[in-house]
Amino acid sequence: MENQCVFCKIIAAEIPSATIYEDEDFKVIMDIAPAAKGHAIILPKKHFANLYEMDDDTASKALIVARKVAIAIKAELGCEGMNLLQNNGELAGQTVFHFHMHLIPRKQEDGVTFTWKQGSYEEGEAAKVAEAIAKKIK
Ligand SMILES: [Zn+2]
Repeated sequence: MENQCVFCKIIAAEIPSATIYEDEDFKVIMDIAPAAKGHAIILPKKHFANLYEMDDDTASKALIVARKVAIAIKAELGCEGMNLLQNNGELAGQTVFHFHMHLIPRKQEDGVTFTWKQGSYEEGEAAKVAEAIAKKIK
């Protein structure tokens, strides 16, 4: 646990939260400033600042928890879509530096947007970038 981490405090129940799910390794809570009704946050109980720091075991379990909770949110709220969102670093929109994933239920005309301008590569550039990244995989 990191002393000043708001998510560690929520996990330790020092700060109250509306909890959807909890097991040995995870706590899933309602986002108090939701993008949409039912917006949930999946928190590993171990403190990792971001995706880069996570261990494989926790990373593997995170998607299993996300799937279970997504199915439950869909069943309860009858949403038409669901975004699974995870930000790393301030530039990417991360505001709490304890790894977390957002589940955001979606409905027609909910005003929630995740869009980007589609870019492009020069001839052969994508393959070169892929090859360079592939060499860094451990
Ligand atoms: Zn933390």
